[in-house]
Amino acid sequence: MIQSTMQDFPLSITSLFQHGRRIHADSQVITWTEDGPKTATFAEVADRADQLAAALSRLGIGAGDRVGTFCWNNQHHLEAYLAVPCMGAVLHTLNIRLFPEQLAYVINHAEDKVIIVDGSLIPLLAKVAHELTTVEHIIVVGEGDGAQLGDTLDYEELLAAEQPGFSYPEVDERAAAAMCYTSGTTGNPKGVAYSHRSTYLHSFGIASAQAMAFSQHDRLLLIVPMFHANAWGMPYAGWSVGADLVMPQQFLQAGPLAEIIELTRPTYSGAVPTVLNDILHNRPDADLGSLRQIVCGGSAVPRSLIEGFDETFGVPVVQAWGMTETSPLAAIAHVPRGTAAANAMEWRVRTGRPMPGVEIRICDEAGAELPWDGQAQGEIEIRGPWITGSYYLEPTDEKFHDGWLRTGDVGTMEPNGFIQISDRAKDVIKSGGEWISSVDLENTLMGHPDVREAAVVGIPDDRWDERPLACVVPAEGKVPDPADLRAYLEDKVAKWWLPERWATIEEVPKTSVGKFDKKVLRRRYADGELEVTECD
Ligand code: ADP
Repeated sequence: MIQSTMQDFPLSITSLFQHGRRIHADSQVITWTEDGPKTATFAEVADRADQLAAALSRLGIGAGDRVGTFCWNNQHHLEAYLAVPCMGAVLHTLNIRLFPEQLAYVINHAEDKVIIVDGSLIPLLAKVAHELTTVEHIIVVGEGDGAQLGDTLDYEELLAAEQPGFSYPEVDERAAAAMCYTSGTTGNPKGVAYSHRSTYLHSFGIASAQAMAFSQHDRLLLIVPMFHANAWGMPYAGWSVGADLVMPQQFLQAGPLAEIIELTRPTYSGAVPTVLNDILHNRPDADLGSLRQIVCGGSAVPRSLIEGFDETFGVPVVQAWGMTETSPLAAIAHVPRGTAAANAMEWRVRTGRPMPGVEIRICDEAGAELPWDGQAQGEIEIRGPWITGSYYLEPTDEKFHDGWLRTGDVGTMEPNGFIQISDRAKDVIKSGGEWISSVDLENTLMGHPDVREAAVVGIPDDRWDERPLACVVPAEGKVPDPADLRAYLEDKVAKWWLPERWATIEEVPKTSVGKFDKKVLRRRYADGELEVTECD
């Protein structure tokens, strides 16, 4: 090997941080509050991050110590995003929607020493306060009854005692910078520890034109929580290019979001389908015209949603795929070049093509690689510099295959690399030895005007082993008729996929990160709690 002459300069969040503060000092962070928007410049936020780093050092936080955040998307959460990794500690973003026992588990498992909590979230953290074994200090931001948490410190008082100009250490690019636990739909949540290097590369990846094409001319509305896979990486990527960051805090319903968009005029956003559906159904009159694109993922994006946003708002929704373990962005559904406009939707409704930098393959149950022919179905496996190689202090060999992460997602790949996820491995429906895609059935059903949401689960069947049960949430004021819905599906999916069993439900049960929780539906069915109509 011939040695290169290049500098071995560490890929660190610190370098992104210092770049954003100097080069884009005037870019803005806008936090939505009950009294409207509160704005600070990057220069001001960076100074406050310095003060936070100094305050945490004074509290004894040093290299590798975990600092938890229990916060909405807001300015001080961003301050922690910047200060904690850059001072050499590890930011542990806590999911405020975890069940209390899981919340206590992840704090204790990560051995958080400090937790920064929003005043409005104190009651949620208080539920587990007595179970925390490693936490030495709780820092409260804003108003709230801190007494429920025992002795607490005040965020603003801590900052006020410090000066900007913290001297950040040189960090090892492979050291952990931030941690996030998966939602643990099966078993305990598992921790993923992102490095400086992985975060740096992921930031460049998502900001590139291959993905979201961020620049200083953008204003990003961060709807995805900063406690869920780092808000899909947007805070770091946006900061590094000088894009304004709009933080909606708890104002995440259709009405407030429409108002935030109309007033702050963001150019880009990312959200899960449920949030976008909510806006489409409840605020079709909103002016979303400032948005040049919205990236949507976390679950399959229904065609009706993409078309609805095109037609109602004139805003393109671009599907993306990833998971906590993949930082999270791994694939994005930009239309391949040369596609006629009339055919673009055929690609837009698919899951996406791999980002440059990550490699994706599909494997059968024996672990053999399958062809990219759009037909062969198998488990998606992935590797790359921002894909986790293990779980934090958790032996999980079965999740890896020759150095590739087994994603638990099942799908096909086209010759041009387009992935189509048909199911999560744990939700697949195997009827007569063949897979039925619950995701396809759901997305097609959600295109029917009488259907608000649909979840399809496999239930035991004497003849076919499993058959699909379609659980349907009616659209406002509608009473969907199973015979109609079945007829609607007839020319859209294979005949043997058509569900014979139907149930109307009020709401699809969701996990702490808002995904369809199908195990709850399967249990309800098994317990006889669902009223099932037969129709064939
Ligand atoms: P969890 O903690 O539940 O794993 P993640 O956000 O990490 O939460 O979930 C990742 C999973 O979400 C993926 O493995 C996949 O099943 C699903 N997912 C994400 N994006 C898409 C998409 N575009 N289409 C289908 N499924 C998706």
